[in-house]
Amino acid sequence: MSDISIKELNNKTPLQIAKHPNMDMLASKGLTGLLKTIPSKCNPGTENAFLSIFGYDPIKLNTGRGPLEAAGAGIYLEQNDIALRCNLVTVINGVLTDHSAGHITSKESKKILLSLKKHYKSDDSVDFYSGVSYRHIIVLKGGVYSDKIFCVPPHDAINTHVNEIFIKSIDNIGHPTAQKLNQMMVDSHEFLKLHPVNIARIKLGKNPANMIWPWGQGYCPKINTLQESFGIKSAVISAVDIVKGIGKYLGMNLIKVPGATGYFDTNYEGKADYALKSLKKFDFVLIHVEAPDEASHIGDAHLKVRTIEDIDSRLLGRLLEGLDKDYVIAVMPDHTTQTSNGAHSTDPVPFVIYSDHYDHGDDVKHFDEESMKSGSLGIVEGINFLDLFLKKKGFPEY
Ligand SMILES: [Zn+2]
Repeated sequence: MSDISIKELNNKTPLQIAKHPNMDMLASKGLTGLLKTIPSKCNPGTENAFLSIFGYDPIKLNTGRGPLEAAGAGIYLEQNDIALRCNLVTVINGVLTDHSAGHITSKESKKILLSLKKHYKSDDSVDFYSGVSYRHIIVLKGGVYSDKIFCVPPHDAINTHVNEIFIKSIDNIGHPTAQKLNQMMVDSHEFLKLHPVNIARIKLGKNPANMIWPWGQGYCPKINTLQESFGIKSAVISAVDIVKGIGKYLGMNLIKVPGATGYFDTNYEGKADYALKSLKKFDFVLIHVEAPDEASHIGDAHLKVRTIEDIDSRLLGRLLEGLDKDYVIAVMPDHTTQTSNGAHSTDPVPFVIYSDHYDHGDDVKHFDEESMKSGSLGIVEGINFLDLFLKKKGFPEY
């Protein structure tokens, strides 16, 4: 939800323009401030934001996106396994032209992944898992590989010749892994060029999925569950693998909501209803909505405003109405995404913590980036959020 000012919104942010009476009510009665969800020296990725909100320093944890997404997709990793995110990409004349292979459908990509699986059938050290659209997982098994490699995320290297961005080893230990993966990428290009799915796509003028692109490597991270750390039973509602995966490592139960898409058309009401139902059984429920981030990535400011209004009226309002007495709620974006350039950024995000026990009523009346600058909590490090929310470590009572 969080953004910087946008020209076509009269130099305001989507949160300043959108009508969100429920968020404003929480802001005017609760404790507010700005949250640094992206720790210094971390890139503003969803995984880093969520790890920090749940009290982990992503640098110390030292894992990649692969193992986190793998968990979200229900893939079990052995201790020495390395999981990588595997994009299906488009390469034309040696140049990486599309990180998403034209947002290939899951139905098509499933066929390609099946063929890749068959192709590598005799190799016990490699496993492919098909995911959604262009987003898949490779697991390197048997403890012979290393995570000491440098992979370029494909969305950061569009229009670059692949020779410049092949995987490099960070040290000698990483060398065989980089070599293996680079060979697989080259092989896959030869093999996928002639795949029936791609021949059909080219005929229709669509980008072919003609190379695999592994990145975001890592081992299974060591994360304490919320039950172990705080003695609470928890659940997560999200359509996005990275969020579900982090939730799984934290010991959260995955609640599946019909019609939750991770897109603008998601089932906002369903997320509220399933959260209310889950709170009968669990102490803590995390509800994640991806829609505003997607609107920012496609650069549509007005759509972003609409997604914020949908969250407020169709999800948050419904949730607040249905909550039993004696609760604590926090509302926040996981990170800022700038609609003006379609990219994530490290700017701190506005946040509120509200309990129905106390009416704080500081000077903040609106839930937005500018108003929260005068919030009573000031600027808070993301890693301190959960302690603050659960009233641990001498933070002010609320
Ligand atoms: Zn994003």
